[in-house]
Amino acid sequence: MAEAAALLGKPIAERIRSRILAETPPGLRPCLAVVVASDDAAVARYAAAKQRTADALGLGFRVETVDPAGGQAALDARLAALSADPGVHGILLELPLAAGLDADVAVRQLDPLKDVDGLTPHNLGLIAAGREADALLPATPDACIRLAGTAADLKGARAVVVGRGRAVGRALAPMLVNRDATVTVCHSRTRDLAAAVAAADIVFVATGRPGLVTGTMARPGQVVVDAGISVVDGRVVGDVDADSVRPVVAALTPVPGGVGPLTATLIFANLLRAMELQRRAGRNVR
Ligand code: NAP
Repeated sequence: MAEAAALLGKPIAERIRSRILAETPPGLRPCLAVVVASDDAAVARYAAAKQRTADALGLGFRVETVDPAGGQAALDARLAALSADPGVHGILLELPLAAGLDADVAVRQLDPLKDVDGLTPHNLGLIAAGREADALLPATPDACIRLAGTAADLKGARAVVVGRGRAVGRALAPMLVNRDATVTVCHSRTRDLAAAVAAADIVFVATGRPGLVTGTMARPGQVVVDAGISVVDGRVVGDVDADSVRPVVAALTPVPGGVGPLTATLIFANLLRAMELQRRAGRNVR
């Protein structure tokens, strides 16, 4: 039986990187500040990966480490200071935060025009209102949509989004509606996940639960996008049981190699867009 096509993030990411290199305004060095408020080794790895991308693109980059022992006030103060700093054009708060820190509270300090991962209610609200042209789009949902779009037409398609979390599902669902998909959202209280997955043409999974979607739920012809990232026995895995799903469906994003590499690049595309939105808002961007 034919195996699913592998939807790889790197080729799309490379095209976007070329565009970023071509479109970076001469004489300006856009700067991204990545805020790390966690002792989680994975979070430090995410920040280091972005540093490498920034270096490759010749863009400015700062890691802002906030000691979780300083509590919510220290994190909020750092985000407020970066929001006010004219030398910083984009801010990314690495999630998850250390226990005891509240991301909902923290993002209130984020300038929406520097919010390069579309976490603020301002950007989510614009998306929900169908005004993506004015918003900074969250990078992971954007990556999921771009990858799915290489294998399927979203318009009119039945899409299922498994997970309604902050980083992915929450914004992905309205972004799919904006692209004329017919969208079902599943979460931990969904009664029949298998039926919802089987009914879809395009399946998006973002739960952080390895192996949640299996071959018995999948259907021939489906396009499956796996945004999950977990480490199991030292290996990075997604939420889809790739070994059982791959022989059934038409296309699948591998983990690693699918959504992740594209997400990392889209953050920097958003950095340029953030500068443009700041300029349009009348700020003196330098
Ligand atoms: P999250 O906030 O961790 O929430 C997880 C979601 O999964 C929740 O909506 C939860 O439902 C749902 N869920 C949990 N168990 C489930 C089950 N058995 N059946 C159906 N739904 C279930 O989510 P997130 O922050 O959006 O992150 C999701 C995943 O994406 C994580 O693995 C994260 O590491 C990954 N991620 C990847 C990238 C990338 O570049 N590829 C970037 C960011 C995040 P409830 O709402 O009912 O609790």
